[in-house]
Amino acid sequence: MMQEISPVQLQFLGAARTVTGSKTLVQTERHKILIDCGLFQGGKPEQKLNKLREFPLNPASLNAIILTHGHLDHTGFLPALVKKGFHGPIYATPPTRDITEVILYDSAHIQEEEALQKNRRRGNRSKRYKPLYNEKHVTRTMKLFKTFDDREWVSVAEELRFRFHRSGHILGAVSVELEAAGKRFIFSGDLGQRAPLILDTPAPLPEADYIIMEATYGDRLHDTTTSPYQALQDVVNSAFAKGGTLIIPSFAVERAQEIILILNNLIQEKSIPALPIYLDSPMAAEVTGLFQKHRGWHNMTEAETSGLTQDIHLVQSFEETQLVLSPDGPRTKIIIAGSGMVTGGRSLYYLKHLLGNPDNTVLLVGYQAPGTRGQLLLDGAPALEIDGDSYEVRAEVRQISVLSAHGDQADLLWWLGRFKQPPQQVFLNHGEETAMQVLKELIEETFQYPVATPERNQVYTL
Ligand SMILES: [Zn+2]
Repeated sequence: MMQEISPVQLQFLGAARTVTGSKTLVQTERHKILIDCGLFQGGKPEQKLNKLREFPLNPASLNAIILTHGHLDHTGFLPALVKKGFHGPIYATPPTRDITEVILYDSAHIQEEEALQKNRRRGNRSKRYKPLYNEKHVTRTMKLFKTFDDREWVSVAEELRFRFHRSGHILGAVSVELEAAGKRFIFSGDLGQRAPLILDTPAPLPEADYIIMEATYGDRLHDTTTSPYQALQDVVNSAFAKGGTLIIPSFAVERAQEIILILNNLIQEKSIPALPIYLDSPMAAEVTGLFQKHRGWHNMTEAETSGLTQDIHLVQSFEETQLVLSPDGPRTKIIIAGSGMVTGGRSLYYLKHLLGNPDNTVLLVGYQAPGTRGQLLLDGAPALEIDGDSYEVRAEVRQISVLSAHGDQADLLWWLGRFKQPPQQVFLNHGEETAMQVLKELIEETFQYPVATPERNQVYTL
């Protein structure tokens, strides 16, 4: 009698026709595992999706979770599942484990703070609003981690094993090659550019039956006419010529470190003046420490890696933040502060003081989502609202888009083009609807592979 091959079910619980909430359920006859466990981010409709009742199975019935990288939209739902009974292993690379720890404690802190404010507004008449999770759940989550380097096979259960391959997105980021019930899957995770600034090129991957691939920039190309070095050099020199302050709102993971690396190198080669650089983001400072801990996971030299902290001023407390802007300090300086799209963080404090002076420059780096203060600045808004007050914008606003942790359309096609055998099916996730549609048509045209664009919670039996 011929042995029957049992089917595998794939269900897209998040990042389906959107870019947040990454979660894909893989089910074999006896096992259930999740690839990534992200939080949905954005407005109220997205936040509703983070409710536990939206999660279609009992978290305790999951056997394991495998992470591609540490970003909140891939890890931020973990403590919620642990709170509701998940107790299996969480597999990740060593840097991903550490970045996840920083990100999850920050996330718990933000959620506890939000709950506090909501309850204050509600008074004591209505029922109390509870955060999705708190610091204690994060501590419990971190105990479940099991770390593995890339390229080593890890057995989860009988007929279920995986290995990691570097994906060039952020420190520790990987694609996952999964073998389940005799079928091979590749989950791309977030993919970096073909030639990332400080990481390895995304690794070539073995053949697969099914490829699950991100599509963030499926409809766009990065502007690569100027290198990040040239772009930053131009901005710093013109900011210096005006004699004002250059403020760079930045993401804490990867982006802040890249900017500091480039600035340090530009100063060394005397392409820009040796201005004082202040990093005012506790989270970015923590992540910088991880670049120093996990040296085998990036391509910075020893000197460049130590320069990330030695050659700059790390601002720790709010008292120090105030000192950075004191009239006794240097007038011309560079400040890097969270957050990247000016949605929160310490950059807000600086902008209140710096926006009104045309001598100052605001440099926005990378993608600015619609509706964020970053996008409003780019659109030439005459004033910006911060903490309920309006601040006139007279500072110069500039943007650099070449530094991106994501590959663009050409990079995505290049990545897929390296598979020598056609897969049975490509599934696109982690992309807005239009980006996915454009990429789907391009893949069908270029490679003649069948491409699906799953909706949220859609199930495929393979
Ligand atoms: Zn990411």
